[in-house]
Amino acid sequence: MSAISDKIIVAFDLNDLDSFQALACELKGKATYIKIGMECFYSLGAATIELAKENKFKVFLDLKLHDIPNTVANSVYALTKLGVDMINVHALGGLEMMRAARSAVDKASLDFNLSAPPKLIAVTHLTSLDQSNLENELGIKKDLQESAQGLAKLAKKAGLDGVVCSAHEAKGIKSACGENFLTVTPGIRTADSSANDQKRIMTPQNAIASGSDYMVIGRSITKATSPTQNFEKILKEIS
Ligand code: C5P
Repeated sequence: MSAISDKIIVAFDLNDLDSFQALACELKGKATYIKIGMECFYSLGAATIELAKENKFKVFLDLKLHDIPNTVANSVYALTKLGVDMINVHALGGLEMMRAARSAVDKASLDFNLSAPPKLIAVTHLTSLDQSNLENELGIKKDLQESAQGLAKLAKKAGLDGVVCSAHEAKGIKSACGENFLTVTPGIRTADSSANDQKRIMTPQNAIASGSDYMVIGRSITKATSPTQNFEKILKEIS
């Protein structure tokens, strides 16, 4: 990894083009990576990826696919064609689904002559869930960290490049799956910002110290009066 700023993926969770362009303009030349998730992609479509590329951003397309293997494979194939840098599926879709996604990414990368396949990662447990949600709502009677680690191992077995997890789980996942297995961690909050709907949160500094390769940061940057100032403040904190 080249610069420390590469570790921050700014979540463009917005639904109108003017806001997209304004934020892109503010962060251009400062941020390396942006995240286009469901809200943005479903509202504004694939044009956002073109816009991101025009502004020289790398793109994590965070659509969290979760369906039967055949549907996920065909969808991942279509998304790979868009030329993004990272895409994801839900690990809870199972081994066969993740293997199908792996094959589809590799096939599309060859078919469309991509210089490199996008990183393919799997969401373990959402950072908006805690132990009580896991046990009482989802009926998973396991320690959350242990369960996330189990899903990470499954993703590794399927040939994926890494996982989306809480920074609280990054260290354990690295020791179970190896240092090169990527950990992408949302639920990042600066000391002075509110948790909002997130439950398993950590500060940027601690997330990096815990082995997070990439931090996905949305509201702590994008809802600030000056997103650039907050981006740079976080950068200084982790440098
Ligand atoms: O605003 P905030 O920093 O909470 O945004 C976190 C981003 O990371 C959101 O775009 C959300 O969709 C995404 N994310 C997450 N938890 C996951 C996977 C992705 O919060 N497990």
